Amino acid sequence: MLAPERSAEMLEAEQMILDTVRKLVKEKVEPRAAEIDAKGEYPKDLRDLFAKNDLLGIPFPEEYGGLGSFQTYVKVVEEIAKACASSALIVAVQELGALPIMIAGSDAQKQKYLPKLATGEWMTSYALTEPTSGSDAANMRSTAVRDGDHYVLNGTKVFITNVAVADICIVFAMTDKEQGPKGASAFICHTDDPGFKLGKVEHKMGIRGSPTNEVILDNCRIPADRLIGNEGEGFQIAMKTLDKSRPGVAAQALGIAQGALDFAAKYLKDRVAFGKPLSKQQGLQWMIADMELETQAARLLLYEAARKCDEAAPDVTHWGALCKLKCGDVAMSVTTDAVQLLGGYGYMTEYPVERMMRDAKITQIYEGTQQIQRIVISRALLGK
Ligand SMILES: Cc1cc2nc3c(=O)[nH]c(=O)nc-3n(C[C@H](O)[C@H](O)[C@H](O)COP(=O)(O)OP(=O)(O)OC[C@H]3O[C@@H](n4cnc5c(N)ncnc54)[C@H](O)[C@@H]3O)c2cc1C
Repeated sequence: MLAPERSAEMLEAEQMILDTVRKLVKEKVEPRAAEIDAKGEYPKDLRDLFAKNDLLGIPFPEEYGGLGSFQTYVKVVEEIAKACASSALIVAVQELGALPIMIAGSDAQKQKYLPKLATGEWMTSYALTEPTSGSDAANMRSTAVRDGDHYVLNGTKVFITNVAVADICIVFAMTDKEQGPKGASAFICHTDDPGFKLGKVEHKMGIRGSPTNEVILDNCRIPADRLIGNEGEGFQIAMKTLDKSRPGVAAQALGIAQGALDFAAKYLKDRVAFGKPLSKQQGLQWMIADMELETQAARLLLYEAARKCDEAAPDVTHWGALCKLKCGDVAMSVTTDAVQLLGGYGYMTEYPVERMMRDAKITQIYEGTQQIQRIVISRALLGK
């Protein structure tokens, strides 16, 4: 069932935000995108720009400085990703690393962290994955041991997006190894906590403007009041977070697809071969039509998933997986076709579509691979 329509005021607020974002993307993000990718550089200037324009806390509750809208949030991520997937990730990871606090944080934790994350005064990150547990996240080995008024964390996390530029990091670790998933807990670490160390920097195929690091927890000592929820609730918090963060990845994927489609369509009109524009070739018209069909279908799934997040619908897990699976696959196929439509030029870094194709791939991998999304989807129909 579709969620109820939003009020005229909410739609008007969303329109104003999207108008601003489109302008910022055209003037500030698009001209920087190729350079960010080539240099593999985190765009601090764009982070500041997003913060200044209140784009970092859109899905946060209004009382903590947000707009309280997942629907507006996914559209903002989509708009930025049309030009630069790495920059879109700045907004998406701010949501990812704030969600555990929004979902299960105490009032004191919400008051301490969410307003600062909404304004961008502080940046956040999310550390679930370990060297031997990615898809099988419940098999994590990091530990957190209570020591008086503190916890002491040990272990290694891998592939952590933007932790190198973050002030805090949500870390998942086992407080009771005997309990399996029920023994995991979630903690708010500060990246300057004693024993919180950055390890290896990863060199990547795409999203090269987003730093990815190993995190080493070396007797990392944090106050006990940084536990989120209760001991043993960590795995549940991690999964509830992914329900609402997967639409953000889907939005990134959709934006990449739309950016590549727009570029390829324009190129076909301009490029002449066999005495006429390529756009007059029926075989290519059909390719473009299929790319449009898939992109629009993906968009409908995503927007419905975001509506369900706003309504706190009981099936957000299912819809989060549906939209992430569809948008990720569409991003990969549309960008691959866009490279094909540009021929040799599509393969060159002078044009953006090869970057978009490289950036698209990650949306099929992180926050649960496409295989894991299928497991989640089939569970809703068939049970575990
Ligand atoms: C650039 C990048 C950024 C990332 N950022 C973060 C981050 O900020 N925070 C964080 O915690 N993690 C992050 N990750 C980790 C990411 O979520 C994991 O890489 C992903 O979940 C897959 O885990 P894995 O790499 O261990 O692959 P594996 O789990 O080893 O999977 C390998 C392959 O086997 C398949 N597979 C595994 N299990 C099954 C199964 N049961 N059935 C069918 N197929 C299966 C997978 O789909 C995949 O194709 C990031 C990863 C990358 C590459």
